[in-house]
Amino acid sequence: MTYSYTQISRYLTCPRRYRHRYLDGWQEKDTRAAMLFGRAFERALAAYFLHEDAAAVLSREWSACQNQGLHYSRVDTWDRMLQQGIQLLDRFCQEDRIRILQPRHNLQIKFTRQVSPKNDFVGYIDAVGKLDGTRCLLEWKTTSSRYPEEPAGLLALDPQLVCYSWMTEISEVAQIVFVRKRLVEIQYLSTTIGKEQREEFGQLVENTIRRIESAEFLPHSGIRFPQNPCSTCPYLGLCLGKQQLVDAALVRRPGAENLGWLDELTY
Ligand code: SF4
Repeated sequence: MTYSYTQISRYLTCPRRYRHRYLDGWQEKDTRAAMLFGRAFERALAAYFLHEDAAAVLSREWSACQNQGLHYSRVDTWDRMLQQGIQLLDRFCQEDRIRILQPRHNLQIKFTRQVSPKNDFVGYIDAVGKLDGTRCLLEWKTTSSRYPEEPAGLLALDPQLVCYSWMTEISEVAQIVFVRKRLVEIQYLSTTIGKEQREEFGQLVENTIRRIESAEFLPHSGIRFPQNPCSTCPYLGLCLGKQQLVDAALVRRPGAENLGWLDELTY
């Protein structure tokens, strides 16, 4: 069985959610504009490092999503997101703080790690390069609001960065956050993940896989304000037995339980 960060993280959020997705084959519909924009933007970033026309790639990739019945949040529109994306690419080019040597090898890198004789763990790292001259693992993020930077050290608790540091054994990590707001901004957030954190994450992965293999899928529902994961969970319709909500949010693709690692390419 091949596991991924997304699988482990979904199980830890709510084991029932894991069962809906990976055992029963229910998948969220790909109509979230922010997510599809993030994918298009990452392709444009790859084009930038390959010395191609990044704005043209963004425009082409985002145009391909235009007629997919996208769901936009708040004030977003297709045009506005494209305009913000082009401004962010311009700013990224002007600031020139990231270097990626051999971009064909150091972008979207697949790492695999054996976690037991019959299980392995796979992850796709956005890039390995240099931020202001320091070699580090890089993760691109697109968002409509700034990531919190206080208190200092917060980033070292980011589970995805800890996971990727554990997979690659690279301790210096950074998130490059492309903020789509009225005046666009790029945050360059970096931190160091210690050996102990990496080892603890490895234990967490082994422990979680044991629980999955023991078929422990009890729901962790959360109906109390303000932490209410059920209200934003795409599987709410299944848990409430409401077909209308199921039809709006999910499609069923049975038999996909061994392809969960593909989620890594979409988050
Ligand atoms: S709706 Fe709540 S209980 Fe059901 S899968 Fe989602 S998070 Fe879990």
